[in-house]
Amino acid sequence: MSSPSPVIVVVGGGILGLASARALAQRVTGARVLVLEKENRIGVHQTGRASGVVHSGVYYTPGSLKARLCTRGARELIEFCERRGIPFQRCGKVIVATGDDEIPRLEELHRRAAANGVEGAELIGRERLAELEPHAAGVRALHVPTTGIVDFVRVAQAYADDLRKAGGEVLLGHEVTAMASRGSGVLVTTGVAEIFLAAAVKRSALRDAMTTSAPSRLANSAVAKPMPDAPPRTTTFAPASCIDDAPSVRLLVSDH
Ligand SMILES: Cc1cc2nc3c(=O)[nH]c(=O)nc-3n(C[C@H](O)[C@H](O)[C@H](O)COP(=O)(O)OP(=O)(O)OC[C@H]3O[C@@H](n4cnc5c(N)ncnc54)[C@H](O)[C@@H]3O)c2cc1C
Repeated sequence: MSSPSPVIVVVGGGILGLASARALAQRVTGARVLVLEKENRIGVHQTGRASGVVHSGVYYTPGSLKARLCTRGARELIEFCERRGIPFQRCGKVIVATGDDEIPRLEELHRRAAANGVEGAELIGRERLAELEPHAAGVRALHVPTTGIVDFVRVAQAYADDLRKAGGEVLLGHEVTAMASRGSGVLVTTGVAEIFLAAAVKRSALRDAMTTSAPSRLANSAVAKPMPDAPPRTTTFAPASCIDDAPSVRLLVSDH
């Protein structure tokens, strides 16, 4: 018997949903990944309102998962932007101590930056701070020259392009209003469609797929058994461009 080809639904077309969907589509062989986004454009909420800073890993406890992910993520994000022609402005950053009582904390950040492998981070005095950023006043500062800014909406759009290339889809105008168990499957309801996922995939299996470097097929054990009264195995995708005009579209997505 052939392995089922799971459909994976990701709710939310912000940078996190799209990054996760892209990784799943590229890594889980045979899976069909759908992103359901309530707005008519991607990245219009927090992704489009962030300050755009690609954090370099100054703050986190050396050796912690956050520190390792932040430094690795920053490096990979910058490489991704270079490959895709997305502007990344390495403007640098200063973290400022406004009084002497803040200096020990600044020194601790300097120590952490060095331990986390943040290149070029150095403690500077008033004069150098005034040269670098005349609008900032402080007694000392930590200068991190490698920190930069990017337009995260453009990054999110590039993730969506990769997702589509890997066979996935972003369905705009799909606000998820309910998710309910149906046997071993899940019924996802949006304002314009119902998507039946006849098999629920275990979260641990998704996590394993996301953390494995090579593409993998979800093992049979990762997928719950299809429900006994599963609807016919029909897969009907409404084209995303028609969604806005469709008063009520029923999407039935099978696990095969
Ligand atoms: C003021 C501020 C500044 C920040 N600056 C930075 C920064 O400089 N650098 C940095 O790395 N991080 C920054 N962050 C953090 C960063 O913005 C967030 O971590 C990131 O944008 C979160 O992305 P997201 O995809 O989870 O959320 P969102 O971009 O909000 O995406 C969620 C998506 O889900 C959709 N959605 C919600 N409900 C439904 C539903 N029921 N059905 C379908 N779709 C739904 C929404 O429409 C939205 O598109 C900042 C945060 C804040 C608050």
